[in-house]
Amino acid sequence: MSVLEVDNLTKTFGGLVAVDDFSLEVDEGEIVGLIGPNGSGKSTVFNCIMGLYDVTDGEIRFNGEDITSDSTHQIVTKGLSRVSQESNPIDLYSVSENIRLFTLPNSIRSLHGGASDEEIREYAARIDIEDKLHEMPSELPHADVRRLEIAKSLATEPELMLLDEPFAGMNQAEIGALAAQIERFREDGMTMVVVDHNMGGLMELVDRVVVLNNGDFLAAGTPAEIADNDAVQEAYLAGEGL
Ligand code: ADP
Ligand code: MG
Repeated sequence: MSVLEVDNLTKTFGGLVAVDDFSLEVDEGEIVGLIGPNGSGKSTVFNCIMGLYDVTDGEIRFNGEDITSDSTHQIVTKGLSRVSQESNPIDLYSVSENIRLFTLPNSIRSLHGGASDEEIREYAARIDIEDKLHEMPSELPHADVRRLEIAKSLATEPELMLLDEPFAGMNQAEIGALAAQIERFREDGMTMVVVDHNMGGLMELVDRVVVLNNGDFLAAGTPAEIADNDAVQEAYLAGEGL
């Protein structure tokens, strides 16, 4: 059963076609990689799914329901969450309070001031930052700031999580550790789409890869097939490599 269906999505900005008639289907429990050189439209696809951009054309369905015109709040409430490419913790608040803020849009929880300390500890533990809860975001190393962003997303209790460049700026050891942590979410029944600009952290993590190039669908296949695909290699030649 498809959790997410993106049908013939087009998004233009003035004369620029950022995403051109792009379709993507994600089944329950899958981890799908979405790659493409910088500027190929990956973040725009996520922004359209999350209701942050109005789509120019096409339809987006979550669990069979048309969410194309829903507000971001409605979409998050239905069980979709996105970890943005940019980290944006509130530096005035501790790690714990940053996570709690993301539990407030849930109206029942907000009556009680957000999630309990125990719930927050559990969200943090799922991404291994439970020992950082009382630190300030500005004190954290980059890899832990990215984990905080993921913990904030977990706090909305998503069924489908969209991760935009979770491995950016990390070294090989950090990429391996984070990939293993993300892989564990699958055991909790989560479905995921993971964006990266190349195959870096995705090789061992994802079931299949979809490639975007200049807003167009270019290829789809297993990570090994994509690593071997000549058209994909060519699309990356001008950039920093697959
Ligand atoms: P990627 O995430 O693959 O690097 P993006 O989706 O960020 O690519 O961008 C795709 C194209 O759309 C780029 O040419 C980018 O400049 C353009 N774009 C993205 N968001 C906006 C926006 N809000 N306004 C104008 N152009 C945008
Ligand atoms: Mg992007």
